[in-house]
Amino acid sequence: MSIISSHNMLKKAQTEHYAVPAFNIHNLETIQVVVKTAAELQSTVILAGTPGTYSYAGTENIIAIAHELSKKHNIPLAVHLDHHEEFDDIAYKINAGVRSVMIDGSHLQFEENITIVKRVVDYAHRYDVSVEAELGRLGGVEDDLAVDAKDALYTSPKQALEFIQKTQIDSLAIAIGTAHGLYKSEPKLDFDRLSEIRSITDIPLVLHGASGVPDKDVRECIKRGICKVNVATELKMAFSNALKQYFIEYPEANDPRHYMKPAKAAMKEIIKKIIATCGCAGKL
Ligand code: 13P
Repeated sequence: MSIISSHNMLKKAQTEHYAVPAFNIHNLETIQVVVKTAAELQSTVILAGTPGTYSYAGTENIIAIAHELSKKHNIPLAVHLDHHEEFDDIAYKINAGVRSVMIDGSHLQFEENITIVKRVVDYAHRYDVSVEAELGRLGGVEDDLAVDAKDALYTSPKQALEFIQKTQIDSLAIAIGTAHGLYKSEPKLDFDRLSEIRSITDIPLVLHGASGVPDKDVRECIKRGICKVNVATELKMAFSNALKQYFIEYPEANDPRHYMKPAKAAMKEIIKKIIATCGCAGKL
């Protein structure tokens, strides 16, 4: 088993009408729990990291750990670059062994977004690396990426077709009303827009900002064609809340191998819930 591209994973999900969860991993413990839980449930999963995560943990370390866990649990893994913006950074990580990337040019003008995405696609496809790009713009906060609600833009179906044709991307992240981070009120998703985008293209579509979106809405998105679901905040919160609670109960605790246990158990429950919502258990 090894590190693979997400291309075939997502195509299988699309054909069989389920979604692959992309869990943002922030530390060793998150990677361990995601992979172990996925293996137990025989689910495909993507391990996603923002530029901040790769610089925190070290690109080579993340790849080596994922590689070993893939072998240990006998499960193929896609190690994915989430919201990367720099060509050189992406090329470096592809050379280090990453096989699934997102180039996020959603903050750029349409033509500039096409130019940077096409450059990454031309490079990545030489190494069988799959490429995701975003059109429209999600609001909210994800690491160093903060987009004010007033600057968020829904994906235009007409532009999406031109974007896909000109860039030759493998998957498209669309903006239909989700946002990164915590929601102040329940998000209202534009399902009709999703269906319209689905009707004009057959490449896998990606839902960012899934934390806090009601399960029924995530399922509706999958029914209408989403086949990758990104989750970060729910995992971070489960981990941090369990850790805080542990220190309230055991203020003298000082052994990470003990106090990390409830934090890992809390993340496991979230992972199981998301895998159930995505319908990907047993789909290895
Ligand atoms: P959340 O933090 O809202 O789950 O979003 C994650 C995401 O979209 C990563 O790209």
